[in-house]
Formats: sequence, C-alpha cells, structure tokens
Amino acid sequence: MAQVLDLLAFEPVARSGSQWYGCCPLHETPAKGQRYFSVNLALGRYYCHRCHSHGNAIELWAAATKRPLYQATIDLCQRLGREVPWIKRW
Ligand SMILES: [Zn+2]
Repeated sequence: MAQVLDLLAFEPVARSGSQWYGCCPLHETPAKGQRYFSVNLALGRYYCHRCHSHGNAIELWAAATKRPLYQATIDLCQRLGREVPWIKRW
C-alpha cells in the first residue's frame, strides 16, 4: 500500500499511527488540506469519504489508473519490479 501511495504521489495531511489522511488521489482536482481520503497502512485498505471509493492497494491502483483490476495488477507489479503473483493451477 505504501508503494502504491508513493506512485500516486500521495502526501498525507495527517497521520495517526498506521492511519493516514489526505486528499483523495482519485479526484481530478485535489485541493490542499483536504482529508476525505483515509488509508490504513497496516491493513492495506483505503476509503474516501467523498467518492466512497474503497478497497485494497491494487484496487486503489486500478481506480487511479482507470484500468480493470487484472491489467492494473500486472502494471503495478512491473512498476514495482515484482513478479506477478500468478495463481498456478495444477
Ligand atoms: Zn475520493
């Protein structure tokens, strides 16, 4: 989650432990000092009190890049230099 926030250039306005608040990276025109967006780094979940978008780190990346979850996951893994966690069938 922290890496996704990094890619989105998210800057928290306030922090309380692993709970961070700031303006929502999903809104088109983020204004300074807004804190609708709440993210819990320990749980890896986010929630926006304005657009009501919520989910995990991959869902946040998918919403921010406006891609389907599948493509967003592959894209995110490539950006972070990680292997795509394919589910192996056997
Ligand atoms: Zn929002």
